[in-house]
Amino acid sequence: MREINTDIVIVGAGVAGLWMLNSLSKQGYDVLLLEANSIGGGQSVRSQGIIHGGIKYALNGVLSQASDAIKGMPARWRACLKGEGDIDLRAVTTLSDAHYLWSQGSLAAKITSFFAKKAMSGRVDNMAKVDYPEIFQHPDFKGNLYKLNEIVIDVPSLLKVLSAQLQQRIVQIDTTDCSWNKDSAGNIMSVSCSEQAIQINAQRFIFAAGQGNASILAQLNIDKPQMQLRPLHMVMVTHTTNLPVYAHCIGASSKPLVTITHHINSDGSYTWYYGGDIAETGVQRDRGQQIAAAQQLTAKILPWVKLQNAHWSTLHISRAEPKQSALNRPDAAYYHSENNYLVTWPTKLALAPDLSDQVCELFSQQQLVALNKADLNITANLKTPPLAEPAWSKTGQ
Ligand SMILES: Cc1cc2nc3c(=O)[nH]c(=O)nc-3n(C[C@H](O)[C@H](O)[C@H](O)COP(=O)(O)OP(=O)(O)OC[C@H]3O[C@@H](n4cnc5c(N)ncnc54)[C@H](O)[C@@H]3O)c2cc1C
Repeated sequence: MREINTDIVIVGAGVAGLWMLNSLSKQGYDVLLLEANSIGGGQSVRSQGIIHGGIKYALNGVLSQASDAIKGMPARWRACLKGEGDIDLRAVTTLSDAHYLWSQGSLAAKITSFFAKKAMSGRVDNMAKVDYPEIFQHPDFKGNLYKLNEIVIDVPSLLKVLSAQLQQRIVQIDTTDCSWNKDSAGNIMSVSCSEQAIQINAQRFIFAAGQGNASILAQLNIDKPQMQLRPLHMVMVTHTTNLPVYAHCIGASSKPLVTITHHINSDGSYTWYYGGDIAETGVQRDRGQQIAAAQQLTAKILPWVKLQNAHWSTLHISRAEPKQSALNRPDAAYYHSENNYLVTWPTKLALAPDLSDQVCELFSQQQLVALNKADLNITANLKTPPLAEPAWSKTGQ
């Protein structure tokens, strides 16, 4: 076994692990990121890329803690996208500079008065019809449209940018095939990976493995924190009609009936990706039933739209989060710190910077000093994980 000494090991190269890799490296720490499969290939590449400002959680008229924690995120990301933030994201593709919300149902009047409140100023804009996105310019569109101060980004380009500068620091290792070495006080001393014939010693270990955190904790005989999975059955329709839509559609309840994002494929086709209530309630439906439900909903809420050469498909994926009572949605980015390890879940892609800030702040409070420099000649002999492909790049085949 060759030994590598580093300051911090992060397990999991989703958006959380990647953001922390960048931030902690900037703070001067020596960091290694271990990824079992592909960069971003868990939840991150399947996310819709919406940098939420929390409006979705305030549609019942209550500005909850959830909507408070997330409200600064669009500005934070916008600064990074302009090259003026802590991480330079200028090379990331912005799919839409705003996310929209339209409503046809009985909630329309209630929402309009709620959005008019002072607390919502800067978060939502009323729009003149001439400024509507093309899809809502159609004469058959009769609903109310609001422009939310939220951005939609192309997640594959984000993963590329977050991993590009620090590629030598990201190695393909599945830690479930490794063994962990702990001292009698419960501190993790190292991880030994026999396949790669290396032992990595570190001062701190951060688990950012999404759904994979549960098996890592089980392997380490750690029973806290517990994880919850909230499953989704997402729908994709790949087609050749260039009609961008980035919007929540609100029906009679305060939860979006559907959230649609529009993605551009390398072969010139487009994919509409459906999340929201249809993905939550569709978990029990089989693929055919879920596609039928999405087609009916589309015909109801966007009756004037005809998608050319449409090919429908679905995917199952769960959101991995810290356990809450009654499977509720957690309110903010989460970490649990114990001995010399952290267990993390950002709970939203948008909150990855917030999680990273909290971890940097914790290490600064703990006065963690950078001590090591991993021998990159050793890591150079290890595999670098590939970038994950978006799910819709495989549809239509
Ligand atoms: C369908 C869907 C849509 C979403 N849309 C949005 C959205 O529009 N906006 C938003 O803000 N949030 C959204 N989210 C939430 C967001 O995607 C997640 O909160 C975020 O991506 C989680 O990132 P992560 O890095 O914690 O986990 P992941 O992206 O799941 O990454 C974990 C990584 O750890 C690796 N790993 C696992 N086990 C091991 C191991 N033992 N050893 C090494 N590596 C391991 C995995 O291979 C994976 O690459 C969405 C989530 C889903 C499921």
